[in-house]
Amino acid sequence: MQVSKIMANLEAKHPGEKEYLQAVEEVLVTIEDIYNQHPEFEKAKIIERLVEPDRIFTFRVTWVDDKGEVQNNLGYRVQYNSALGAYKGGLRFHPAVNVSMLKFLGFEQIFKNSLTNLPLGGGKGGADFDPTGKSDAEIMRFCQAFMYELWRNIGADQDSPAGDVGVGGREIGYLYGAYKKLAREHSTGALTGKSYGWGGSLIRPEATGFGAIYYVERMVKQKGDKMEGKRIALSGFGNVAWGAATKATELGAKVVALSGPDGVCELPEGVNKEMIDYMLVMRDSRRNKVQDMADKFPGKAIFTPGKKAWMVKCDIACPCAFQNEMSEADAKELIANGVKYVAEVSNMGCQPEAIAAFQAAKIPFGPGKAVNAGGVATSGLEICQNAGHINWTAPEVDQKLHKIMNDIYDMCVEYGKQADGTINYVKGANIAGFMRVAKAMLAQGII
Ligand code: GLU
Repeated sequence: MQVSKIMANLEAKHPGEKEYLQAVEEVLVTIEDIYNQHPEFEKAKIIERLVEPDRIFTFRVTWVDDKGEVQNNLGYRVQYNSALGAYKGGLRFHPAVNVSMLKFLGFEQIFKNSLTNLPLGGGKGGADFDPTGKSDAEIMRFCQAFMYELWRNIGADQDSPAGDVGVGGREIGYLYGAYKKLAREHSTGALTGKSYGWGGSLIRPEATGFGAIYYVERMVKQKGDKMEGKRIALSGFGNVAWGAATKATELGAKVVALSGPDGVCELPEGVNKEMIDYMLVMRDSRRNKVQDMADKFPGKAIFTPGKKAWMVKCDIACPCAFQNEMSEADAKELIANGVKYVAEVSNMGCQPEAIAAFQAAKIPFGPGKAVNAGGVATSGLEICQNAGHINWTAPEVDQKLHKIMNDIYDMCVEYGKQADGTINYVKGANIAGFMRVAKAMLAQGII
């Protein structure tokens, strides 16, 4: 493969799909060498096939708001690749959602799901719907309208969506209720992230954050260092940041910053249990304002409007909110402030120039598709429990999640070890994820 040729072709076919093109290029440059050592890949045009989704559904979602006004949104499902299993990946409800964003997320999902070593294909979906400020009834009506279209294309052995930005346990409940009514079957494998008691798995809400911190712990240990006492800056205050804050605090680290679209809260003494619980209240309020934390805990949480978490001095920085949220300037500020480790928890949370800055400064950098794979891995465990009609205890799920994250970490080291002894986790994750998918595609023929 010649990356420039493939990229030129994709740019011509998909002009303006910036995030998708960025995600593809980031992967191709790291797998180019190993790919070219396998003439069978080139012969079967594996990469040309992998960069295009199997199919994309786009549909109108019409619903009625609390004032009785008719609203229209656009819904999507990108079924990207099913070499390893039924399509699997979250649904994102956010006003910026478009085809390019969901294609980038779906492409990343293929590699991430492959890294879990579970039988999971890659997919992603969502809508340009903004949950901010919406009532519960509006959310329910939107979810039902969304499912009117999606239900025919999902199912345990076909495609199993889950949550993502703007879609949590409550939305999955409404989506599942509508699915069940339309499909006329209680097929729990059709959606994951369900609540415990009707098919959900314990630890699923915490899983992305817990898994990320398990990965970070290994990055820290690799340097002969320990988590205890480390200062961690997190962006966001949703489910993912909540899980990460919980686990990091449990391991003796100190979460010194949380941020939102409105600014950053500095937490000089670190987050405590009450603050961690309050993150859930903030998320459920759908106000999307981190300032609420400062109002609730005066003196303990200090709010600065318009600033990011990266202005706070820390040892470990973890973007947990949105793609491209960390710029080169942010990376330079973190480096100047002495950051020692960076782990992306949000998909493609760092701009390519930010990653390059960390790598040039020899700061270990963990990429999203490996660091945040614990969420989808636990969705895979949810599917296993549903299929076997069993419920694992929280420690059982947590133990399995921990093992999966350790295995992912080990694979990243195996494929990412450099001649100078450092580890390029980005390269390791991309190669390990790619090889499993490529081998399955080869075995399944030209299709
Ligand atoms: N949205 C999460 C992710 O990107 C979870 C997906 C899932 O559980 O299927 O991995």
